[in-house]
Amino acid sequence: MPVFRVEFAPDGPAAATAPGEIATLVMDDPGRKVNVIDTAALADLEAALTLLEGRAGLRGVLVRSGKPRSFIAGADVDAIAALRDREEARAIVRRAQQAFSRLAALPVPTVAIIDGPCLGGGTELALACDSRVAADEPETRIGLPEVLLGILPGFGGTTRLPRLVGLSAALDLILTGRLLDARRAERVGLVVRAVPRAWLLEHARRRLAELAGAGPGPARRARFRPRSLAATLLDGTAAGRSLILSRAQALTKARTGGHYPAPVAALGVLRHGLDRPVEVSLGLEAEWVSDLVVGPVCKNLVRIFQLAERTKKEPAAPPLAGGRLVLVGAGVMGAGIAELASREGLEVRLRDLDAAALARALRAVRARVAERASRARGGGRTVRRSDGDAQLARIFPTLDLAGLGRADFAIEAVVESLEVKRRVFAELEVRMRPEAILATNTSSLSVDELAAGLQHPQRFLGFHFFNPVHRMPLVEVVRGTKTSEAALARAVALARRLGKTPVVVRDAPGFVVNRVLMPYLREALHLLEDGFGIRDVDAAMRAFGMPMGPLEVADEVGLDVAAKVAEILSRAFPERMTAAPQLQRLIEAGRLGRKSGVGFYRHRGSARSPDPLALRLLGRARERKATSPEALAERLTLAMVNEAARCLEDGVVADAGMLDLALVYGAGFPPFRGGPLRHADSVGLARIESRLNALRAEKGERFRPAAIITRLAAEGGTFTGAATD
Ligand code: NAD
Repeated sequence: MPVFRVEFAPDGPAAATAPGEIATLVMDDPGRKVNVIDTAALADLEAALTLLEGRAGLRGVLVRSGKPRSFIAGADVDAIAALRDREEARAIVRRAQQAFSRLAALPVPTVAIIDGPCLGGGTELALACDSRVAADEPETRIGLPEVLLGILPGFGGTTRLPRLVGLSAALDLILTGRLLDARRAERVGLVVRAVPRAWLLEHARRRLAELAGAGPGPARRARFRPRSLAATLLDGTAAGRSLILSRAQALTKARTGGHYPAPVAALGVLRHGLDRPVEVSLGLEAEWVSDLVVGPVCKNLVRIFQLAERTKKEPAAPPLAGGRLVLVGAGVMGAGIAELASREGLEVRLRDLDAAALARALRAVRARVAERASRARGGGRTVRRSDGDAQLARIFPTLDLAGLGRADFAIEAVVESLEVKRRVFAELEVRMRPEAILATNTSSLSVDELAAGLQHPQRFLGFHFFNPVHRMPLVEVVRGTKTSEAALARAVALARRLGKTPVVVRDAPGFVVNRVLMPYLREALHLLEDGFGIRDVDAAMRAFGMPMGPLEVADEVGLDVAAKVAEILSRAFPERMTAAPQLQRLIEAGRLGRKSGVGFYRHRGSARSPDPLALRLLGRARERKATSPEALAERLTLAMVNEAARCLEDGVVADAGMLDLALVYGAGFPPFRGGPLRHADSVGLARIESRLNALRAEKGERFRPAAIITRLAAEGGTFTGAATD
């Protein structure tokens, strides 16, 4: 069975005076659940086009997917990951462009019928048609997310989209990778009509008939027409377009810190290709995208994407059955988890001892629902008010323990105290069904110690969410020594249902994320001791690509929370992690970070400035100038890399991929660097080892290289394969 097939049907009633045919080009990959464009698909598309080009009496062509509620998911990501050779990449891109251009050049009208996800190469195929209609249904999402994988739309998207919707609207999609629902796509002119699924075919046929009357070739193809004075002056003139591009360039540079080449390349294609013939622009697309696709940033981003996809399948877990959740503790985390669970359709019983805490939590959920609605509107989605109301109705706040017998899961998010948490689980265990899962959301306590008093510890595990819950994609699913496979599978299924990326970790101090972050934060404190300034330390890590520096993170998390984690880790690994007396000094002075208004920084609203008083409290009078931000960043990242290697060595996480994913998703490690272990590989493990040894000689045993680093460096091995693997 070919991936593309052509079906012919008579056009109009058989008795029509000039009989003709409508062809439907159907993409339906028999080997896959969703359609993706790979070389096999391209070969079948070419054959289908040859058939269409040679067909006499054709009146028009409809393009649709054979997969229900799913159009085309884009190019084959595994194939992108495997591409090493620039010329090979260029040949594939050229081949796809040529096939799409043949579709665009068919002598009869063409209309794409978009129903369900239409991403990347799928959108580019649809853009090669004369016109597009889309199903106005929740599954429909249209866009060009290539930039998120470190490439640009190279199958004609960077060329055809701005010609159809104007430069501003095209940049908004190409540079951010964001997706539009059908109505938004209609509004910007990407599709001509958004209609309910049941009417799609009829509208597509009507559109074909309209186009048949529009005249030959290019006359049929919609072109951007500015609809306002501003659009006329900006998108509508060469000088205006140049201005738009310059602004976008400056914004991109500020947003990416110069670390991501794909948006810059897309802007280059637009600057040099938009006012030239389509063929010239396609040539530019092919050149730039071939450079990007074999480069390290694309490889790192694609790998992280693939790792995240892996967590949707591994460990294997049947889809979640049962959707009733008990949440104990309505604080910051409880409110966040309640919002998430209710949004995903679970019924939530939210229990706290304090009525005021419950009220605060509900207010927080309501605010989040409203914020999400306004963001969704800004981000290309249409929002129904009733969805928010239904979500809120799924949360049942309570001060008592009634109704626990019906629940499938309980997650505890009370204060970080072994005794309090144990008491909570003792109360839950006797009231909940024997097959219900009990989970703790602890950031530092041992899951095994918490399970010690339970009658059925096999159904107990940890669920480490990150703050803010709605924004952080990671959940560490912590497997205790006694946790059963079945309980683990259901917890993983719950995390997936909540839209999170579950990384399974062993019950070990700090799990993975906090354990790797702590030596990094600790090293930042050592740098302050050595005389470096707060701002210089943070700026060095921002320049490296972290969203915030370590001291900024400490202020956000709360110095008391950080000190608690530091204490637990220093007890577990006294030979290399000492407790942080500096933090205690600041805490005793009432400096807890943002929540108290002062920490390392003085906070005013969302603004912050380094506080010299903090340095004085740390016993430092004058600041030493940082001569090289790279040297500071190196010391800080080596602390992370070394501990990441130890986590791997200790089997806290399954493999280097899962460790890198956890740090990118849970700690904001720069995705373009691919995670700490991938970063170490790209620096070279021999160099990592020698730098660690140099720092060990200068600063002490905390820099002693992990045994696995020494071994791999000696063997010439890597944690993750070469950076372009
Ligand atoms: P919080 O102090 O904001 O909220 C705790 C809530 O639990 C309070 O409303 C309190 O009234 C309630 N509570 C206390 N004892 C209770 C009991 N016996 N029964 C019912 N409710 C009770 O705390 P938080 O920041 O939401 O943290 C909760 C847990 O999540 C902690 O274990 C913490 O370590 C962990 N955690 C926190 C973060 C974070 O950044 N805040 C991140 C990850 C994990």
